[in-house]
Amino acid sequence: MAMKEFQAESKRLLDLMIHSIYTNKEIFLRELISNASDAIDKSYYRSLVDNNITFNKEDFYIRITPDKENRTLTIIDTGIGMTREELENNLGTIAKSGSLAFKNENELKEGVDIIGQFGVGFYSSFMVSDVVTVKSRAIDSKEAYKWESKGAEGYEIESIEKEIVGTEIILKIKENTEDENYDDYLDEYRLKSLVKKYSDFIKYPIKMMVKKSKLKEGSEKEYEDYFEDEILNSMVPIWRKNKNELKTEDYDQFYIDKHFGFGKPLKAIHASVEGMASYNTILFIPDKAPYDFYTKEFEKGLELYSNGVLIMEKCADLLPDYFSFVQGLVDSADISLNISRELLQQDKQLKFIAKRIKDKIKNELELMLKNEREKYEEFYKSFGRQLKYGVYSEFGMNKDALQDLIMFYSSTEKKLVSLDEYVSRMKEEQKFIYYATGENVEKIEKLPQTEILKDKGFEILYFTDDIDEFAIKMLMKYKEKEFKSVSSGDLGFEADEKESKKETEENKELFDSMKDALNGKVKEVRASKRLKSHPVCLTNEGELSIEMEKVLNTMPNGGNVKADKVLEINTNHEVFNIIKQAFEGDKDKLKMLSNLLYNQALLIEGLSIEDPVQYANDVCRLLK
Ligand code: ADP
Ligand code: MG
Repeated sequence: MAMKEFQAESKRLLDLMIHSIYTNKEIFLRELISNASDAIDKSYYRSLVDNNITFNKEDFYIRITPDKENRTLTIIDTGIGMTREELENNLGTIAKSGSLAFKNENELKEGVDIIGQFGVGFYSSFMVSDVVTVKSRAIDSKEAYKWESKGAEGYEIESIEKEIVGTEIILKIKENTEDENYDDYLDEYRLKSLVKKYSDFIKYPIKMMVKKSKLKEGSEKEYEDYFEDEILNSMVPIWRKNKNELKTEDYDQFYIDKHFGFGKPLKAIHASVEGMASYNTILFIPDKAPYDFYTKEFEKGLELYSNGVLIMEKCADLLPDYFSFVQGLVDSADISLNISRELLQQDKQLKFIAKRIKDKIKNELELMLKNEREKYEEFYKSFGRQLKYGVYSEFGMNKDALQDLIMFYSSTEKKLVSLDEYVSRMKEEQKFIYYATGENVEKIEKLPQTEILKDKGFEILYFTDDIDEFAIKMLMKYKEKEFKSVSSGDLGFEADEKESKKETEENKELFDSMKDALNGKVKEVRASKRLKSHPVCLTNEGELSIEMEKVLNTMPNGGNVKADKVLEINTNHEVFNIIKQAFEGDKDKLKMLSNLLYNQALLIEGLSIEDPVQYANDVCRLLK
C-alpha cells in the first residue's frame, strides 16, 4: 500500500509537533476527547433532521483504554465517523482553525509555545506517540478504513472491518526520555485526573475500565483485583445547571474542588447570558486575599471554556486589574476551541463578555455594600486596596466605576464608611470632604491638625494606606465636594483664616526669625487657628502633601521630593509666650526652640528628624 504525503503546511506543523519541546503535552487528550465529543454532537444533529437515524443516549460514549504492555492508549467514540475522503481531508490537512500564516518562519522554528498559541487539535497526538492509528466507520457507510501515520513523512490508508459506526484512535505511546515520562499517559490515575482537569464537563460519558480490589469471596484478609467500568467525567457542569436547583453549599464545594480559595467564598455570582455573546459564568468573590495577592507573582484570570471544554486556565483578558481578585470561569459556545491566544485577545465576543462581567461584578459589589454591610467590610479589608489602586491607576480612567465601592475609616462613625455616606452626613456649612493621613487609626486620632475639625463636629476620613491620598487626588471631587487634607493650608474657615493672617502679620518679625532659624526647612511660620491643645503642627502648601512625600521617598525611584511645609504655632499656647520672651532677649534660645518645635512636629507627623542627637541635646539643655 502506498504512502501518501501530507500537504506542505501540515507536514511542517507535524514536524514541529513531533519535535516539540512544548511542556504541556498532556493537552493531546483534551483535543482527542473534544473531537470525539464533536463527532457525537454531529450524530445527534443528524438524528434531528434524518428520520432514519435515531439517537439513543446510551449508545453514545467515549472510551479510553490504556494498555501498558503494548504501550497503547486507545480513544473510542461512537460518533459520526469518517469516510475515506474525510480521513484524508480532515486528518491530512492542517486544522482550519489555526493558521500558520500568523507566524513567520523564524518564529515557527523557535516554535516553543506554538501549541499554546494555536491549539492544533488532532496533530497534538504526535507529541506523545510514535504511531497514530485511526480506524473509522462513517454513519451512512458499511465500509471502514484505517488511517495510520508515523509522523511527518506521510500516512497510509486501507480498508478494514469495523462493526460499529464511530472512530477509534490508537496511540503508540513513546518510550520515556530523560525529560518526559510518557508512561504517565498509560497510567490509570493520571488519565483520570487529566479527564477531570480538562474534560470534566463534556456532555457524553467518558468511560474507562478501572482496576479495583475487593475482599476475596470467603476470605477476610485476601484481596483480589477486578475491573469495573467507570465514568470519569461529571458531564453536566454546575454552571449549566439552573440556579434554582443549586444551594450555597454546591457553590462552596465547587469553589473548594477548583482550588479557587481555602475557605468559603464570600459570594458566588452565577449568570447565564444569551444574546450578542452567549455564555455561562460563575464568579467568586474570595473570602481572603491569597498570600501572594499583592505581589508580582499573582496571576489574575478566569477559566475559559468553549462549550464545556477548558481552553485556558487563566484568561487574564476577562478581568480588569482592579477586580483581579475574582475567581471563576466563563463557558461560551461562541469562542472556538482552537482559538489562538493572540486572536483571543482581539476577539470581539471575548471583549464583550469581559465588559459584561466587569459590570456584573461592580453591580454585585454595590449590592453587597448596600444589603450585606458586614460582608462587604470583610471583603473590603482584603481587597479594598486593590479597588483604591484601581481608582488611581490608568490615569483615573476607572474612577467613576469604582468611587462608590471605596471606603475609609471615619472619625465619627469609628468604622469604614463610603464616600456617599460621608457626603450625605455633611453639615450645611461644610465645604470639603476632610481627610487625615497617617500610619494607623490610633496615630491619626492624635494628630494636632484634626483638633479644629473635631471641635467643629466635622467628620474626618482616616487614610492609612499608602495609596489612599494618591487615589483621592485622582478623584479630586466626589459629588461636587472637594477633598481636603487636615494638613492643608486652607481648611475653608474664613473667619479663622482672617484671624490667623492678622496674628501672623502682628508677629511678623518673630515668625520670620523662626523661619530663618530653621534654615530653609519650612516655607513659612505662621499663627495657627486649627490647634487647640497642641503648641505646633506642620501643614503644607501645594499639591504634594507631607504624607505623599513620605510614600514617594520610600519608593526605589521616588527621588528626594519635598513637600512645601509650613510650621504653624498655636498663639494661645503657653509655649508661645516662651518663644516671645526668647525673641526679645535670647536669639540663641529662639533658634534652639524653633528647631525643637519643628522636630516635634516632624515626629508627630511620623517623619524622621534630620539630627536626632542635636534634638536630644536641645531637650537636655531645656531641662537644665
Ligand atoms: P478541529 O477539531 O479544530 O476541526 P482537529 O485537528 O482536532 O481540528 O480535527 C480535524 C478534523 O478531523 C475535525 O474537524 C473532524 O472533521 C475530524 N475528526 C477528528 N477526530 C474525529 C473523530 N473522533 N470523529 C470524527 N471526525 C473527527
Ligand atoms: Mg479538534
